[in-house]
Order: sequence, then C-alpha cells, then structure tokens
Amino acid sequence: MPKLLDTYNRHISYLRISVTDRCNLRCIYCMPKEGLSPIGHDDILRYEEILRVARSAAQKGISKIRVTGGEPLVRRGIIDFIGELNRIPGIADLSITTNGVLLEACAEPLYRAGMRRINISLDTLNPEKYKKITRGGDINSVLVGISKARQAGFAPIKINVVAMRNVNDDEAVEFARLTLDRPVHIRFIEFMPVAGQTLWEEAQFISSEELQERIRAIGTLIPLDADQKAGPAKMFQLEGAQGKLGFITALSNHFCATCNRLRLTADGKLRACLFSDDETDVKPLLRGSCSDDELSRVIDQVIRSKPQRHDIHEATFKKCSRTMSAIGG
Ligand code: SAM
Ligand code: SF4
Repeated sequence: MPKLLDTYNRHISYLRISVTDRCNLRCIYCMPKEGLSPIGHDDILRYEEILRVARSAAQKGISKIRVTGGEPLVRRGIIDFIGELNRIPGIADLSITTNGVLLEACAEPLYRAGMRRINISLDTLNPEKYKKITRGGDINSVLVGISKARQAGFAPIKINVVAMRNVNDDEAVEFARLTLDRPVHIRFIEFMPVAGQTLWEEAQFISSEELQERIRAIGTLIPLDADQKAGPAKMFQLEGAQGKLGFITALSNHFCATCNRLRLTADGKLRACLFSDDETDVKPLLRGSCSDDELSRVIDQVIRSKPQRHDIHEATFKKCSRTMSAIGG
C-alpha cells in the first residue's frame, strides 16, 4: 500500500468521518444550550457519497477510519453503513466515538458490523453533574451502554473525559482509580477552544500535567511506549493497574508533529487540521460527475495543504468557527 505523506513528511493514515452534526445531548463544552441549526437534509452527505470518499482515501493509503459526529448513533442506517466501511479493502482499523446513550441497543449490532474499537464520552461519574454537563442526559443510559459494549466484545473500552477546572477536575483521581481493577482506558482531553460551547475561557482550562500531578497522589504513573492506536494520547499506567490512562494535550503540548489525520465533515468538507477553518468542499464534486482521479487529486491537495502546526497560542488565532459537533472532534 502506498504511503500518503504530507508536505512535512507526516504519514497520513487516518480519516475521521463525521456522519451527522445532530446530537441527542447538548454538552456545555461542545454546543450552545439551544442547540445549533442543523445542516439541511440535502446538505448532509449521503452514505454512498461518504463511502466513495472513504474508498478513494483507502486506495491512497488511509488504513484507519473513525466514525464520529454529532452523535453518530442517531443517524438512521448507521449500522449498515459501518458494515460497508468494514468491507473497504485496506481499512484495517475501524473505530467509533459515541456519547454512549444509544449503546444499549447498538453495541451488539455495531460489533457484528465489524466495529472493534469504541470510545465513549463520559465526563463525570456523578448523575447530577452528568445532567448538568450534558444539559439533560441520563448517566444510567451510558453506564448500561458501556456494560453492553463490554458484553458485545469491545475491549478495551476507552472513556473520553474532557477535563474542565471547577467542573469535573475534582474527579480526575476517581476516574484514574477505575483503571486499577478494570482493563478500561481513561483518556483525559484538554478542553479546546472551538465554537459552539458557551464555556471556554482560560479559567476553565486545566492542563494534563496538572491532572497527572493529582493522580500521582494514588500511585506511580508509568509512561508507556507510544501506541499507534492511542492516537495523540500520551499513555501511562498506574503501577499494578489493569487499565491505562491517556492524556490528550491538544493545547499544552503540540501534538501536530505526529498528526496523521484528515477529516470529513457531515456536509462534505475535507479538513486537514482540527483547528484551522480551511476546508475543501467535496460535495459538488461528488454530486457532479467527477471521476475517481479527480476525487483522488482533491484528497492529495487537501493533504498538501495540511499546516505544520496549529496556531492556538499565536495572537492571530481565532476560535474555530465550526463546533466540535460539526467537525467531529
Ligand atoms: N457525540 C460523540 C461523543 O460525544 O463522543 C462524538 C462526537 S464529539 C464532538 C467527539 C469528542 O469531542 C468527544 O470525546 C467530546 O468529548 C470531544 N469534545 C467536544 N468538544 C470539545 C472541546 N471543546 N474540547 C475538547 N474535547 C471536546
Ligand atoms: Fe453531542 Fe458529543 Fe457534542 Fe456532547 S460532545 S454535544 S455528545 S456531539
């Protein structure tokens, strides 16, 4: 298989596909309270269109695909779509990021469709706080979903926790403790400045380093070798623990040098960097009669346009105008 290299010699191997901007939650760090006006039905890429982009990307050397959203499990037909993704030659690693609310019914069908890796977002273990962070969500649906995912065969289960000072930072140690006697991965994500959330400000940011410092109170944190499947997460293990801890230091430490990602938004924009608003609209191509060669050339152009690094720390940085739910995280 060819190696897809960008201008800075990074090996681009991973496509994140947002299948919808819609969601059954309204997390404070992701969406405004009233939600967002959803992308119109005609503007959302159809599954066949997404599959065409995915096939083209796979022919060029993309081997990993993550399905995300919005909430991917709210889109009708998602299980069959995942089955189709799984049949694309060259795709060796298929994963999904979900809020877990619909997993009770979906975990088993997902596994049967070929999905093997799952990340579930859960930012607190406290039912009341969960309701506040998600603006109305029921933590029990996620806990049942996690247990169904385990029964279905997903292993390890990865839990994503967006860390926010004075919101859930007091639970970092409690989350870390979960790894002691369970094979679960807890991944702390630094709170990122994207549009939509009503909360982001410096005061709510807490660095991974500070979280690690707190977690060291319950044991030695052993750094683990970089794992291809951990993506940008820096991985650790508490001494004697079954599970692992990951830290995604989007802000405090550039992860750009090893970034291997390309993103496809639900409305058909290819995006080379999470934090840059530069996007290429492939929908007109897909709905026109573009040839496979043309599509492949556009993917090449987007990869060539991938910036060396994000400019979050520069004075010129403007918060991304798209929300995480639109970009897919
Ligand atoms: N709805 C699914 C979920 O919540 O897992 C998938 C989409 S969500 C946009 C993907 C990931 O982005 C989630 O893990 C979520 O916690 C994370 N995320 C959303 N907004 C964020 C922000 N402002 N900073 C850091 N992570 C964020
Ligand atoms: Fe929905 Fe996920 Fe955004 Fe929460 S983080 S509002 S679950 S898309």
